[in-house]
Amino acid sequence: MPFNRPFIVVLLLLIVAVFSFQRWGGEGRGEVRRSRIIMGTVVEITALGEDQDALEAAVNDAFAEMSRIEGLMSPHLPGSDVARLAGPVSSLEVSPDTAAVLTLGLQVARVSGGAFDMTLGRLKELWGVETENPRVPAAGDIAEALQGTGLEALRLDGTRVEKGAVDLAVDLGGIAKGYAVDRAAAVLKNAGIERASINAGGDLRLLGDHQGRPWRIGIQHPRQDQVMLATLALADTAVVTSGDYERFFEKDGRRYHHLFDPRTGYPSAASQSVTVVADSAMLADALATAAFVLGPEAGLALLEQFPGAEGMVVGADGVPHPSPGLKERLSWP
Ligand code: ADP
Ligand code: MG
Repeated sequence: MPFNRPFIVVLLLLIVAVFSFQRWGGEGRGEVRRSRIIMGTVVEITALGEDQDALEAAVNDAFAEMSRIEGLMSPHLPGSDVARLAGPVSSLEVSPDTAAVLTLGLQVARVSGGAFDMTLGRLKELWGVETENPRVPAAGDIAEALQGTGLEALRLDGTRVEKGAVDLAVDLGGIAKGYAVDRAAAVLKNAGIERASINAGGDLRLLGDHQGRPWRIGIQHPRQDQVMLATLALADTAVVTSGDYERFFEKDGRRYHHLFDPRTGYPSAASQSVTVVADSAMLADALATAAFVLGPEAGLALLEQFPGAEGMVVGADGVPHPSPGLKERLSWP
């Protein structure tokens, strides 16, 4: 029997419906999700809303803002504030963005008793953990790279940076990504977007909730690939995880990672991972790095010094220690 015309029209409508369902289904209705590599990590932005074109434009602007921050704070980009600070200068004018990062970084450095330390640029280069040629340096070289570093080595007066020694290398690797994520969130917010998530390789910022419910954020198990240690239910906040499983190399059966104890110049053995929840990703980022170096007890005590900050420190023995305020948002598998 030949198909009659109404049948074909219905069939065509059905095909169109299935196609658009798949299109929406892939990304979710009224949702734009895009990824780019910025600051050496995959950054994924998801924005929710009705107007697809507006979402698309805002997400592009947010990526552009993060690239601008990378241009100021990457040690590898010539002309960046951090690259210029690595030069043989004792005093230098930096951008307001870099000054804002240094201001909060110096505060976390002080309150953490120096566990957070933005003056370890030479030490980081010496170990080369994140390079093609990581190495366990000689003790003498480590001592040399630590010379002149620490709480007194860096001062800020407005946008003028004073270095304690000309060969001091500033490293914002423990905080800059958080700031970039906050800036991306500000761009999305200014564009009128109320619900979004920005994930820069473990530095996460959430705007609003997820379709009327909290966002569910998995915390990676530090010793089991692809396994979630726990889940957090969160809205309108930042959450950042630092772990020894992210960037490391192994030599003679030992693990050497990228979170240094400024007192020894070696990777800190105090923790396996730290997750921090705070209003800003920049604060959460710095606190996660600092609490990692301090370990469970002193790490949780550090978080208490920052109103609104909560977190969980997984100790060197693998035991998770959540702060009291985090418990209600945590669920275990
Ligand atoms: P990532 O998410 O890139 O792993 P983290 O926030 O965990 O970043 O910080 C790791 C980076 O912080 C290191 O690569 C280094 O640049 C810097 N860093 C390492 N140790 C310290 C420290 N004690 N204080 C401040 N920054 C540090
Ligand atoms: Mg950090």
